[in-house]
Amino acid sequence: MQREIAKSLVRKPSTLLYPYEKYEPIPGSRGRVVIDMAKCIGCGLCIRDCPAFAIEMVGKGVTCDMKWYADRCVFCGQCVEVCPRTAIVQQTDYDLSSDDKSSLVFEYRRVRQA
Ligand code: SF4
Ligand code: SF4
Repeated sequence: MQREIAKSLVRKPSTLLYPYEKYEPIPGSRGRVVIDMAKCIGCGLCIRDCPAFAIEMVGKGVTCDMKWYADRCVFCGQCVEVCPRTAIVQQTDYDLSSDDKSSLVFEYRRVRQA
């Protein structure tokens, strides 16, 4: 027991002082969802498969825009798997928390000709 206490006194803490200290993102981890609207055909498969209702289509088909709700997303990666055009990727950044809910809605818009 005393040996354990002595070890704990000199050992570096296992935790970080978040949000002042942060871990480096781990390569391959599932974080922010990004939709490439140049590739998206508006098929809606990602919306149908998302278990958290975290993706919304604004408009229809090939002319639609998309919204991703980071506060609903469970970062499962299903949308990435199902997209037939590989239009969705998940970046490794995980630190998306905010006390402003509106900042957790990410809008992806198509480039439209004027
Ligand atoms: S990662 Fe999962 S929960 Fe998040 S948007 Fe994609 S399918 Fe939905
Ligand atoms: S599954 Fe891919 S192509 Fe289909 S609506 Fe979603 S992002 Fe667009």
